Amino acid sequence: MESRIRIVPINALDVAFLDRLVPTLEERFLCSVSMERTLAVPRSALNSTRQQLFLSTLLTRVRRAHPEGGGIFLAITDFDLYKTSHRFIYGDADEQQGMAAVSLHRLRSEFYGEGPDANLLFQRLLKECVHELGHAFGLKHCYNARCAMYYSNSIFETDNKMSHFCDACDRRITRARNER
Ligand SMILES: [Zn+2]
Ligand SMILES: [Zn+2]
Repeated sequence: MESRIRIVPINALDVAFLDRLVPTLEERFLCSVSMERTLAVPRSALNSTRQQLFLSTLLTRVRRAHPEGGGIFLAITDFDLYKTSHRFIYGDADEQQGMAAVSLHRLRSEFYGEGPDANLLFQRLLKECVHELGHAFGLKHCYNARCAMYYSNSIFETDNKMSHFCDACDRRITRARNER
């Protein structure tokens, strides 16, 4: 198992806010977590009709910025993400490539017409990061609606789940860690 998680902020994001992820992810995944330099992705990279960023476009850019590889890359962006056959995604991961991405766009309460809520936003971001990193570490979706590996189709499902794994997923990730 890759023993390092590397967070790549896309464009200007609140660094102090993102930094809160580091100790929590270290505790969840028992590996080191580092904050990499910000990667600039211009609006011209968006699909001009959808005004959304195609997931593969983002992952390719992150990969190109870090040709040395080493570790699992977690890109965090304010752009709304989509992939083929999905109107939008909160995030996604590629286990083979060791890449994950999470979008803040639909995690913000402002998206739902409510006032900003930094703590709620952090909890949502943490849950989606744990979920996508779980995939990057080989976990599949879980049917336990409270587990971080539950597939959220809506923000209500994200709010309903925990930012950590259920016992079964926890055992799976521990087993995967011990096998490498
Ligand atoms: Zn998933
Ligand atoms: Zn689970």
